[in-house]
Amino acid sequence: MALVVQKYGGSSVSDAHSIKRVAKRIAEARRAGNDVVVVVSAMGDTTDELLDLAAQITPLPPQRELDILLTAGERISMSLLAMAINNLGVKAKSFTGQQAGLITDAVHGRARIVDVVPSRIRETVSKGQVAIVAGFQGVTTDTNDVTTLGRGGSDTTAVALAAGLGADVCEIYTDVDGVFTADPRIVPSARKIDRVTYEEMLELAASGAKVLALRSVEYARRYGVPVHVRSSFGNATGTLVVGTYGDRIDPNAPAGEEEAAMEAPIISGVAHDRSEAKITVVGVPDVPGMAARIFEVVAGAGANIDMIVQNVSVAATGLTDISFTLPQGDSPATMGALTAVQGELGFASLQLDDQIGKISLVGAGMKSHPGVSARLFGALRDAGINIEMISTSEIRISVVTRADSLDDAVRAVHTAFDLDSAEGEAVVYAGTGR
Ligand code: ADP
Ligand code: ASP
Ligand code: MG
Repeated sequence: MALVVQKYGGSSVSDAHSIKRVAKRIAEARRAGNDVVVVVSAMGDTTDELLDLAAQITPLPPQRELDILLTAGERISMSLLAMAINNLGVKAKSFTGQQAGLITDAVHGRARIVDVVPSRIRETVSKGQVAIVAGFQGVTTDTNDVTTLGRGGSDTTAVALAAGLGADVCEIYTDVDGVFTADPRIVPSARKIDRVTYEEMLELAASGAKVLALRSVEYARRYGVPVHVRSSFGNATGTLVVGTYGDRIDPNAPAGEEEAAMEAPIISGVAHDRSEAKITVVGVPDVPGMAARIFEVVAGAGANIDMIVQNVSVAATGLTDISFTLPQGDSPATMGALTAVQGELGFASLQLDDQIGKISLVGAGMKSHPGVSARLFGALRDAGINIEMISTSEIRISVVTRADSLDDAVRAVHTAFDLDSAEGEAVVYAGTGR
């Protein structure tokens, strides 16, 4: 008998009919003899709708109140799902994040899980009942207030519970058949990946492939939780996120197969991100300590910066420009903080650009293959797309483009690296992609 944690995303529970459909799957898993713990997201686009509603009340809602509001979304779906499962003759009970023992730090809106104490979940499961847990939320022991884990946080709830309960697998049920070589909403010819390492999935998630939330992958890697990403609309095997790059080369593989493993794909996929903005600090005096001071101010504003580019100063003026990217949501506070120190730092002006897109090419094999960057830049050139910023890690190359050329860039690069599937189009079963 296995202990399975199943997570159902918002598009899998978007209305009463879908909730009943998902309830049937859960009841089947239980009747097959598994211990089942379910994590559920808010119905459809509920979280976005709640955010829109708050924005109509005030542009800057207090974070504590916003968190209480947002946790309501998952409370609705968890109770409805428990009702639907009970209706099928299988006992189920729903729990908020707090009741399930998801303890977080006190950073409202993007709290980190610091402990999982799932005693009530264990007790429920030991009675043969299905435990349904509201995703994306926890409680901070600092103030006893409820917190949320950041967008997509139900994935993190699921992986953390799987780790805390010692589950055999964490199944992430969503609206596509698994992790693809690109977002199937943009690249219909994207290929499903059967198996991907934690490292590659980390880079894909960090680069915007929202099929798994970044922190859920970090958590899975740290605790060695096998994650299976699959569709809730069918029974096909999805993508297994497990192991490291070295594991791909199986020392016991028969001759020939070992070689095939060594030739594992250079590129695992192409990710994109439209959620960032670019700030340029124009005319910065090129003297030691300026970058340190600017990024102290940026950090003080609570911004998580991504790429940074500093140009060589123009000899005649001794001035340089520094550009960096950050989440769009962090830009108002960051612009405010930098404006406040303009006199002190003596730069000429600030520019905010929120019409940027980022495309990232990810693959552990690129470490040992020259020419990947040249091929990437060549594909963008052939598609007539201008490159604004570039950054690289060991297994990733990211490029900033105009937001309106991002989709074309993703398709061009996907094709240039021979990632297109020969087996027809990827299916997107539901969801609005919001
Ligand atoms: P859920 O509601 O189940 O949490 P999400 O919308 O958060 O679903 O994540 C699933 C979506 O992620 C897909 O519908 C797809 O548009 C998007 N996506 C982005 N990149 C990828 C990728 N590489 N593979 C699969 N899906 C991706
Ligand atoms: N409902 C939350 C969101 O939309 C959490 C999740 O779906 O994972 O971000
Ligand atoms: Mg999600």
